[in-house]
Amino acid sequence: MTAVLEISGLRKTYRGRKGVRNALDGFDMVVEAGQVHGFLGPNGSGKTTTLRTLLGLIKPNDGRMAILGREVPRHLPEVAREVGAIVESPQFFGNFTAETTLSLLADAGGVNRNRVVSVLDLVGLRDRAKERVKTYSLGMKQRLAVASALLKEPKLLILDEPANGLDPGGIREMRTLMRDLSDSGMTVLLSSHILGEIQLICDSVTIISAGKRVTSGSVSEVLAQHTSGAVKVRLE
Ligand code: ATP
Repeated sequence: MTAVLEISGLRKTYRGRKGVRNALDGFDMVVEAGQVHGFLGPNGSGKTTTLRTLLGLIKPNDGRMAILGREVPRHLPEVAREVGAIVESPQFFGNFTAETTLSLLADAGGVNRNRVVSVLDLVGLRDRAKERVKTYSLGMKQRLAVASALLKEPKLLILDEPANGLDPGGIREMRTLMRDLSDSGMTVLLSSHILGEIQLICDSVTIISAGKRVTSGSVSEVLAQHTSGAVKVRLE
């Protein structure tokens, strides 16, 4: 199997009122091609810091990161063409339709507008494409965000807590979407602090706690470790 994402020895410290805090303390992770990989850890364990560091938004203190075999942040400009990411909650203009929103983003990104229909189809919003975004449910807005990240046909899609706030129906739709993307050959990295979500959506998983990798493997392997008590991380 080929690694789409490799992280080793990643360190990030923050200076706060209480002194220096290790948000990432030598963190390692490998994501293989074609997987929907869960990035699971309790609140404050370092998931968002890892994802923001990967995308060049935060400078690490130490460590090595490579996406599609290219070191980041050194090769981030080339890598950025191949990576779609939603790490902050995207804000859409409620008075625009989904179609207009995506067409404007396509124009801004130099993407052919023909791609808009394909991504609307992929995320299951084609029938609602001409409705204003302010009429959308949270789940539909999340899927519109995924659609915007898919415009440039990324090889790797990075999503920070995409199921946050979704009801069971929204989570099922998100799962179907992740499966479809994976079947089309895309690799997905999806963070969550909820074990049940990862269990429903992912093939493989890395667990992070206090800035360190606790374990990783197929979802069934890691679940067995968690159930047997071998993995001592408090998860929802
Ligand atoms: P959540 O699920 O709550 O988003 P997380 O796993 O994404 O959590 P991070 O947001 O990466 O965790 O936070 C890791 C640690 O770093 C936490 O202790 C957090 O308080 C701290 N931290 C994060 N950002 C900053 C910052 N800008 N300044 C100081 N400390 C920070």
